[in-house]
Amino acid sequence: MRETVKSEQAFKESNSYFPGGVNSPVRAFGSVGGTPLFIDKAKGSHIYDVDGNEYVDYVLSWGPMILGHAEEQVLEAVIETAKKGTSFGAPSPLETELATWVKKRVPSIETMRMVNSGTEATMSAIRLARGYTNREKFIKFNGCYHGHSDSFLVNAGSGVATFELNDSPGVPKDLIKATLSLDYNDLEAVEEAFKRYPDEIAAVIIEPIAGNMGLIPAKPEFLKGIRELTKQYGALLILDEVMTGFRCDYDSAQGLYGIDPDLTTLGKVVGGGLPAAVFGGKKKYMDGIAPVGSVYQAGTLSGNPLAMAAGIATLKQLTREDYDKMNQKALRLTDGIEKAAKEYNVPIQTTCRGTMWGFFFNEHPVIDFKTSKESAQTYFGHFHKELLNQGVYLSPSQFETNFMSTAHTDEDIDKTINGFKETFRVLEE
Ligand code: PLP
Repeated sequence: MRETVKSEQAFKESNSYFPGGVNSPVRAFGSVGGTPLFIDKAKGSHIYDVDGNEYVDYVLSWGPMILGHAEEQVLEAVIETAKKGTSFGAPSPLETELATWVKKRVPSIETMRMVNSGTEATMSAIRLARGYTNREKFIKFNGCYHGHSDSFLVNAGSGVATFELNDSPGVPKDLIKATLSLDYNDLEAVEEAFKRYPDEIAAVIIEPIAGNMGLIPAKPEFLKGIRELTKQYGALLILDEVMTGFRCDYDSAQGLYGIDPDLTTLGKVVGGGLPAAVFGGKKKYMDGIAPVGSVYQAGTLSGNPLAMAAGIATLKQLTREDYDKMNQKALRLTDGIEKAAKEYNVPIQTTCRGTMWGFFFNEHPVIDFKTSKESAQTYFGHFHKELLNQGVYLSPSQFETNFMSTAHTDEDIDKTINGFKETFRVLEE
């Protein structure tokens, strides 16, 4: 059994400073129970809590650490950059250097703006779409999460789903009347919405591979259909690739699906583990942003040199071969998990898209938020807790995704599969 005294003490103390003891809700382990791990350090594919327990880490800071933790070249870039100053509030060549990597890897992005978080990126992209089209409504999908800005908190995934909220107090009712939240993978619903409001919808925003209601990929014909409908009705298509960008595949989800969006949002991997995000797309739309256009958007720390350096050091190391290898590891892992579950008669649905992987304790295929919520969430809670005892750290909610990094080894995968087996066995008792 693990010793968790120090984490428990740290949690007790943090509760007197932060609501729920944390600075982002899902970190509180609310849906899985128990004390959240307080982290001391992390290196490569492993993370260590303050009690000295070691875990194979598949949370990877919710996606960014694609090269593993404290990767040498990223560290060196950040340290060397910091020596020259940590923030200027003025342009620096590092911003342009990171932008060249973004454009090379995501060619639909002609011009872009650097921001600090995915929330800022999606919020700004929607404002731009509204400003450009002079329309106010937009379509999103149930169970997708686009950050915590007001307009998106309608049937959202991630922490909003974990805490069983459909929306959030504090969001003006009149504002969210403009948010149309439809079922994922339901093209007919999108068609109906456009027929009903042909001149009022500014944009459709979607996670092309949803990672915030568990991992649920969009059906290719669903995304293609949305692309056609947005064109037909003069609305912008915004692919929210905050999670999938540089993550699911070398070419991100838009390359994988062959979709050319009007705007894209990026976060997580693009900042290499430091706070950076991007929104960008076709120049004709991006020119709507101040100072060229009149849609306002700004940020004191935007384009922060340390975050740019970490992003560059991350992106320039990643090759197509790396993505193939990570995918093979993720496939071997999900295959092993499936076999282990079968051995213990636990109903499971596993999914793997590139370097993203997930599973639902569910007898039936999971295609949207409704079917995701039908998964055995209480069992997941027990499962998560026992798996920690086996030295494996997964996202502490059924509504999140797990990730693979270049640092994960074959031994890590074997240890994880054995950990799943042992956990199924313990829970069967
Ligand atoms: N969009 C997607 C698809 C996300 O997964 C997230 C965060 O998980 C966000 C937006 C919000 O990003 P951030 O947490 O950096 O504000």
